[in-house]
Amino acid sequence: RDMTHEEVLDVVDASGLAGRGGAGFPTARKWRAVREAEGGPKTIICNADEGEPGCFKDRVLMDHDPHAVLEGMAIAGHATGAERGFIYLRYEYPHTQVILEQAVEEAREVLGEFKVCVRRGAGAYICGEETSLLNSLEGKHPFPRNRPPYPVTHGFEDTPTAVNNVETLASVAPILAKGAEWYAGLGHGEHKGTKIISLSGDVMRPGNYEVPIGLPLTTLLNDWAGGPREGRSFQAVTMAGLSGGFLGAEDLDATLDEPCLRAKGSFLGAGGVMVFDDTRDIVEVARQAMSFFAHESCGKCFPCRIGTERITERLSGEAGPVEAGEWKDEIHAIGHVMSETSACGLGIAAPLI
Ligand code: SF4
Repeated sequence: RDMTHEEVLDVVDASGLAGRGGAGFPTARKWRAVREAEGGPKTIICNADEGEPGCFKDRVLMDHDPHAVLEGMAIAGHATGAERGFIYLRYEYPHTQVILEQAVEEAREVLGEFKVCVRRGAGAYICGEETSLLNSLEGKHPFPRNRPPYPVTHGFEDTPTAVNNVETLASVAPILAKGAEWYAGLGHGEHKGTKIISLSGDVMRPGNYEVPIGLPLTTLLNDWAGGPREGRSFQAVTMAGLSGGFLGAEDLDATLDEPCLRAKGSFLGAGGVMVFDDTRDIVEVARQAMSFFAHESCGKCFPCRIGTERITERLSGEAGPVEAGEWKDEIHAIGHVMSETSACGLGIAAPLI
């Protein structure tokens, strides 16, 4: 409270903090846009709809340090001039709701005029997309909204709104306490800051690892997480949970930062890494992944609604026997149309599988 909103914005800006939920948008730029937007009341929304397969870091943060998230929301409120906040919690985390509501009660005096409510989500993957989340929070069908206008000017109830991920908000108080240089210096090489990776699958020590941005993937897999199971080798890993697709064994020289991963046709996103060793049928893994996207497609636009179904069929052989090689071309063609014409990240990213 001793810092002005400008001072908060300057420190967060200098730290290089960017959305740690997947989008990677600079946090200070988003907050400044809400600060400068006309109208109100302004709103802070904590996106706790952690529905990406293979991601389980937000749940752990909320269960073990809910006050870090509330602190981040209160600071965001101070920086933007927002008077109210919502935590939009994944439907499948009912125990976390109890913890969060208790934490809000405990923090009521500290939060002062800034009001925080916990809202349980509707159990749909698409609600993790910020404009779908806004529609769901308003009680509407959670179709993604067309942009522009963006939530920073026309968000919750059409008023200026900052939507930030749990991990982003939990990072803010330590940055203000220890300084922008401290946070920026945690990155590897020229990269700034850290990212929590949820690591699961065929690896000796799965779990949540907070890594310096830019850490070599093999350092995480072998040195930190103990490598593959005895006698096995890594066949592939997923990135961004499922949304970043697979990196094959030949791409495991990647570093955990967006420029490197994007150059390999993937992205870090929400930070889920699922590991598959040489015992796994990777086509079947891909079929299950695409089947998930087909189930979760909201159906608003047909390239995604139909494309996810067609690719699932091709991968399962349901559409009849397809000559080797031909089905790959067809899948690539469908995937190309999906990524070029889908309205939101689900349809754009699903073909990466
Ligand atoms: Fe819905 Fe898929 Fe279109 Fe996104 S891409 S709006 S999930 S149909």
